[in-house]
Amino acid sequence: MDFRSDTVTQPTPQMREAMAKAPVGDDVYGDDPSVNDLEQWAAERHGFEAALFTTSGTQANLLGLMAHCQRGDEYLCGQQAHNYKYEAGGAAVLGSIQPQPIENEPDGSLDFAKLKAAIKPNDSHFARTKLLSLENTINGKVLPMEYLAQARQFVNEHGLQLHLDGARVYNAVAALDVDVKEIAQYFDSMTVCLSKGLGAPIGSLLLGDAEFISRARRIRKMVGGGMRQAGILAVAGKMALTDPVPQLKVDHANAKLLAELLNTLPGFKVNAEFVQTNIVFAKLDESIDINTIAEKLKQETIIISPGNPIRFVTHQDVSEQDILTLVEKIKSYL
Ligand SMILES: *Cc1c(COP(=O)(O)O)cnc(C)c1O
Repeated sequence: MDFRSDTVTQPTPQMREAMAKAPVGDDVYGDDPSVNDLEQWAAERHGFEAALFTTSGTQANLLGLMAHCQRGDEYLCGQQAHNYKYEAGGAAVLGSIQPQPIENEPDGSLDFAKLKAAIKPNDSHFARTKLLSLENTINGKVLPMEYLAQARQFVNEHGLQLHLDGARVYNAVAALDVDVKEIAQYFDSMTVCLSKGLGAPIGSLLLGDAEFISRARRIRKMVGGGMRQAGILAVAGKMALTDPVPQLKVDHANAKLLAELLNTLPGFKVNAEFVQTNIVFAKLDESIDINTIAEKLKQETIIISPGNPIRFVTHQDVSEQDILTLVEKIKSYL
């Protein structure tokens, strides 16, 4: 049992079989039928003109930011945004794009008054503010649909582009019971991680209009992300996107159960209001020696990431019974 992340899932036997049989070609020449199929199908499925298969979510975000922004441009994002905080500063390092982070509100959203105040005037002192980048889900929290509509209105008023880091957008889809297009419609571009809760071994998608994706394709080559017989991966990616919602709903129910059970343990406190998808954060009292607990769990082949707050992630390879076992074990060590 591995509760560190939803990236640890194993490809299903059906995926492995499809991968073994995938028709492939050299995708740098545009010759891989499985990659072409995934890109065309995914563009249509999410309501965009075009799609690009990338090695990772980090690469998809980087290509998106670089395809929107030139050197000396700026993007607005959250302090907690993955594409600001957890991607080694790629947009700045490789794109010469200045991030302008804004403190996230407790629900994960960005306040429009604060965003507005951060937009730079057209003046040679400043970087050019070009883009607003949101994240959904963010730390397991779902941005409300009305917030997305307001964000679209905000960028229209200020002449900005709107990007969604949708690494876990299908968790938002499952939580809100909407079609993915209903979320995607507000954005000029969007990423989707195929290798998180969706269960594919490798890869992400970048979605946008045809010109944008063509710019991103060139940058993908520049950063070494042009792959050859990548159809072996693309078929697994397409399977991951086919009907993922029922499993994600199970993962969400398991996260809720985990939150409830952790709240019964002395020294563990979960804010249940923010357990909206498959991620549970628990704050620990000083008395809890989480490193020792993690060591003991490891001897029982249960893996967690010690920390405070500690993050647990549910996914298709941990069951309701696994949640019960995890909490029982922790309880026995306290
Ligand atoms: C994981 C993640 C990414 C990056 O994906 P990788 O495939 O790990 O590079 C980007 N954004 C968010 C919100 C993520 O959770």
